[in-house]
Amino acid sequence: MKTKIILLGPPGSGKGTQGDKLSEELGFAKLSTGDMLREAVRDGTLLGLKAKEYMDKGALVPNDLIITLMKEKITSLGAGMGIILDGFPRTVEQANALGEQVDIDLVLNLDVEDKELVNRLTKRRTCPKCNAVFHLEYNPPKKTGFCDKCGSALVLRNDDREETVLRRLKVYRENTLPLIKYYEKKGLLVTVQGVGSIDDIFENLKKAIL
Ligand code: AMP
Repeated sequence: MKTKIILLGPPGSGKGTQGDKLSEELGFAKLSTGDMLREAVRDGTLLGLKAKEYMDKGALVPNDLIITLMKEKITSLGAGMGIILDGFPRTVEQANALGEQVDIDLVLNLDVEDKELVNRLTKRRTCPKCNAVFHLEYNPPKKTGFCDKCGSALVLRNDDREETVLRRLKVYRENTLPLIKYYEKKGLLVTVQGVGSIDDIFENLKKAIL
């Protein structure tokens, strides 16, 4: 079984949702740089203060900050642990740094067209406490406005507003899309259609892993 896995794909392609399901089913650690950064912003740490200005604009946080953060996290897990990376790497520089630390087994690329991504992100609601995600139409919470898992009030992330979403998609195309070729050349890439039911997509991802 593959144990060092990257989830690649544009914002809104389902990396977070599928990463949670995979980590639960396989017992792997899910490392999400977006979640880590939002936590740092909430806690008001130095990293959070530095990251916030980039995140609110829909820009990427500088490579050196992200690479240091991720290296520490991966080291703290130990070599034997299965890992699922969500939202990292996002640039070739990050991918090179990751490759020096970990032998990646598989890169799962979730493919979703832009129009669908904008619809998903602008109607997404997120729990600021436990990071659970919902969608106003596709996956509404049981009680409107509140998290099913921990009961906190759900929010629209600052960077899920339409103009910021469009910026994030541009940033994705310019910086992250080259990673598809990068990992294809290494023979690690499997592309999975990211549209359809959450469970069907999950089954297709699992087939590539097991
Ligand atoms: P996400 O939740 O993965 O969509 O990430 C939210 C925001 O965090 C992104 O728009 C970036 O500003 C920042 N971010 C997350 N991961 C990275 C990364 N690997 N490199 C640079 N910035 C990142």
